[in-house]
Amino acid sequence: MISLVTGGAGFIGSHLCEALLKAGHRVRVVDNLSTGRLENLNDFAASDQLSVHQVDVCDLDKLTPCFEGVDWVFHLAGLADIVPSIEQPVGYFQANVQGTLNVLEAAREKGIKRLVYAASSSCYGIPDLYPTPESSAIQPQYPYALTKFMGEELVMHWAKTYQLPAMSLRLFNIYGPRSRTSGAYGAVFGVFLAQKINGKPFTVVGDGSQSRDFTYVTDVADAFITAAQSDLLGVALNVGSGAHQSINRLLELLGGERTNLPKRPGEPMITFADTTQIEEKLQWRAKVSFEEGVGEMLKRIDDWRQAPVWNPDSIAKATSSWFKYLG
Ligand code: UDP
Repeated sequence: MISLVTGGAGFIGSHLCEALLKAGHRVRVVDNLSTGRLENLNDFAASDQLSVHQVDVCDLDKLTPCFEGVDWVFHLAGLADIVPSIEQPVGYFQANVQGTLNVLEAAREKGIKRLVYAASSSCYGIPDLYPTPESSAIQPQYPYALTKFMGEELVMHWAKTYQLPAMSLRLFNIYGPRSRTSGAYGAVFGVFLAQKINGKPFTVVGDGSQSRDFTYVTDVADAFITAAQSDLLGVALNVGSGAHQSINRLLELLGGERTNLPKRPGEPMITFADTTQIEEKLQWRAKVSFEEGVGEMLKRIDDWRQAPVWNPDSIAKATSSWFKYLG
């Protein structure tokens, strides 16, 4: 079996590559290395079953030959994070929408057997219902959420119109080793681990009672492989942990001082996936508890030694366009 992972040098992609190699696949990584890092592949870079192609999904001419002979395609390449998406919507559209269109066209031309798309639970915006089922209203709050959802719509349309054997997974707050340690202000784990290792207070948004469906990355890699093994076509399924954890609970596990930040516009108090569909259709459920997952992150805290250490002032500057446009 040959699997192609776009965004394979990224956080989630690298864990998926590792799981596929363990399952005996040959793995082709397609990554432009703009936010992905070759270091993410270090643990298994020596494998002769792995090849890395530094190709941008926006470049269809270079992309298509990478799909030759491929069985399974996992499309995880894309731009993440909220603030840069507000500031550079065109780049987000190109990477997440045009890039997905190119992946679908390359997959169609080369006759691949399965394609699984990494969609985002941010499509639900501020949901009316918890746990949130796939049938909930789609209400993206910022360009990242919109462009990831547009990518999903393309996947659904290619499944319907061209019978491309494709489906989508809507991922909820993924965390784990190899999550980003540099660049724009972003996901809470990286922010907090850099603060902890530098003895600085945790910057807690609001009173910390808000909660997230934190899902451990190896469980997500497993969900992708399970989805590829199925014959579901043209469906989008939630991938979540089965629970939701407050920021205050995360602080208890990490241990340390706190300082407070104002609440941010457009942010839900809770994210919590209804996982009934994926449990029924794929017999998948998350295995790693929050306590275990946080323990694994703490073992790797040295990875954040060089990471930017955010404080309320630098966060206020970094998020000014968030408040300006979403407030
Ligand atoms: N959060 C926080 N301090 C920070 C960054 C984030 O308390 O410095 C909180 C934020 O309010 C949210 C949770 O952590 O409730 C997860 O934030 P993240 O940006 O990782 O994910 P998202 O809000 O997109 O679900």
